[in-house]
Amino acid sequence: MQDRTGPSGVYRFEDRPARPIFGSLLRGAALKCPACGTGAMFPRYLKVADACPHCGEELHHHRADDAPPYFTIVIVGHIVVSLVLAVEMAYRPPLWLHAALWLPLTVILTLLILPSVKGALIALQWALRMHGFDPDAKEEIVPSFDADLVQDSPRRLDFRP
Ligand SMILES: [Zn+2]
Repeated sequence: MQDRTGPSGVYRFEDRPARPIFGSLLRGAALKCPACGTGAMFPRYLKVADACPHCGEELHHHRADDAPPYFTIVIVGHIVVSLVLAVEMAYRPPLWLHAALWLPLTVILTLLILPSVKGALIALQWALRMHGFDPDAKEEIVPSFDADLVQDSPRRLDFRP
């Protein structure tokens, strides 16, 4: 690890390399590595590369989880519901035409937007140095199963009245 202590030997938080949030978001939304903007973040659809193929920045620290689908639903919902209401108010088409228009549009928009949303969220985590994206952070503490809580021990949880 690079020594980031100043002349007094004190660690200086502000000496860490800058990670601009907006620029990182744009790179992630373009499905590129947030660090270099060149390497592909996704070798396959929604499959995040362990490390950037161009600069080697580790990307496996991300914890996107279910946030990308959540934000994709918000975005696609606002687009499609607005269009449904506008078309209904203007033309009053039959219901079968609504279904024929909006169901495919919803699926297509979702599949198109989801990777960019996931890329932007991972880039945001990288820019904010979350979830192991901070090279100076200690290892993340993962809660593990504690056998003392099950077997007889002074630390055993007792819920009996
Ligand atoms: Zn890179």
